[in-house]
Amino acid sequence: MSDDTPSLDLRLDLADETATVALAEDLAAILRRGDVVALVGDLGAGKSTLARALVRAFADDAGLDVPSPTFTLVQSYELPRLTIAHYDLYRLTDASELDELGFDEAIETGAALIEWPDRAEDRLPAAMLVVAIGAGDGPQARLVRLTGPSDVWGERLERTLAVRAFLEVAGSPRGHRRHLQGDASSRSYERIHDEHGSAVLMNHPPEPDDDAGRARVAARAAAKLAEGPEPFLAIDLALAELGVSVPEVLAHDLDDGLLLLEDLGSEPCFSGTPPAPIAERYGAAIELLADLHARDLPEAVDDGDGGTWVIPHLGTEGYRNEVEILLDWGLPHYLGRPADADERERFGAIWTPLLAEIEAGPKTWSMRDYHSPNLLWLPERKGTARVGVVDFQDVAFAHPAYDVASLTQDARLDVPAALETELLAVYVAARRDRGGTFDEAGFRRAHAILAAQRATRLLGQFVRLKLRDGKPGYMRHVPRQWDYLSRVLDEPVLRPLKLWYEDVVPADRRLV
Ligand code: ADP
Ligand code: MG
Repeated sequence: MSDDTPSLDLRLDLADETATVALAEDLAAILRRGDVVALVGDLGAGKSTLARALVRAFADDAGLDVPSPTFTLVQSYELPRLTIAHYDLYRLTDASELDELGFDEAIETGAALIEWPDRAEDRLPAAMLVVAIGAGDGPQARLVRLTGPSDVWGERLERTLAVRAFLEVAGSPRGHRRHLQGDASSRSYERIHDEHGSAVLMNHPPEPDDDAGRARVAARAAAKLAEGPEPFLAIDLALAELGVSVPEVLAHDLDDGLLLLEDLGSEPCFSGTPPAPIAERYGAAIELLADLHARDLPEAVDDGDGGTWVIPHLGTEGYRNEVEILLDWGLPHYLGRPADADERERFGAIWTPLLAEIEAGPKTWSMRDYHSPNLLWLPERKGTARVGVVDFQDVAFAHPAYDVASLTQDARLDVPAALETELLAVYVAARRDRGGTFDEAGFRRAHAILAAQRATRLLGQFVRLKLRDGKPGYMRHVPRQWDYLSRVLDEPVLRPLKLWYEDVVPADRRLV
């Protein structure tokens, strides 16, 4: 470590072994590829206890056998999110032996936990975190000192210890932390369980005050997407009031971006490999939309923090910006060349009347990603309350057909055409049943327009996620969007759009 690198130096009192396990899980929550964690302390200090708990947390397997690598010197765990190499160098006779143990490769491809790191002499990277475990006040207590370069560890450690402090305030000081979804750079979720049961932690760190952070904030504002944890709390309370099964907020610290939520379980509305929608569950989910859409929903709601949250409105501009992602990112990929001026102009001219028709239609709350990853099934509840909704912070006023189309043409799994037809029929019947004005023909046209809008946007966005954001995984959903699109382009209202697609992106170009 060069002398001018600021280093962090944290001291923690651990009252007993469960506190050591908790610290191990706090470290597991931030561990990533390339990390080296050195565990220093006398025999019996708790180095192996900490390493074991860390590996088990990462493996999400509390019973995983994590033997001390006393004789093998290294034990590797190839876990889905990271490979962890656990070293015990006590018996290392010479630092050069590290080569045979694949040390450099271990850090390149994963993370390393190292007991007795001093045996490695100067072979360890400067960026490592040193966890020194010393005696505390009593046989069970330990005093831990964490040191390392702050640019590598400072922010991450501060954040993960803030989560632990929040859990303490929320009444689960030693709650076990298990990764659920997301990564540290954006919103992430953990499952927390203790002797009382389980809950879900939503970790929503504030954006850093740098160029990249400010750019993300601006992009979300332009797309009328939620910023910070406030809208989640506000909409959660409002939807709960309306009888929707959203997670109860058990504790929150909005300034820190931390919420502890009721655990709605992990039973999805689909099953099998590849995942297929379960018709009854999708039917209940579509009925839930009909319930909401038949109501007069407020323009503003209580924000749960003494103020008011105003629900934004999605206008034509937003829809238009979204479909243009196809021109800017999708076409160069599918055609191998940028869209020309004529193609762009015809595309814009086609969308103008379609989006005007949407704008002139009814408006209601739209959750905007009302599809399989965000819906859970709660079999013990009744009727539409069996549908658990977990992603709604982007609620905005939009045409009711938008959320219906997000489900009938679920971007993440194949909804067969027959099920789409059936779901639409369920929705239409439910809307009629609930009374009020409902224009079926207008709704069906809007459904086609918005399904095409969504597929068009995603055909651009999945390419953008790969090329701009380094997330190629979404490309596997591209063929499905082409299928959905061709299904919906047969609607008469989309005739001009169908011709444009046939001309500009013929079938043999609709590839990944
Ligand atoms: P090391 O690997 O440092 O030699 P181990 O983790 O193998 O140490 O052993 C630590 C022992 O101390 C275990 O028997 C553990 O149950 C006990 N212990 C008591 N209190 C603690 C604590 N606060 N943290 C870790 N271990 C503790
Ligand atoms: Mg040991």
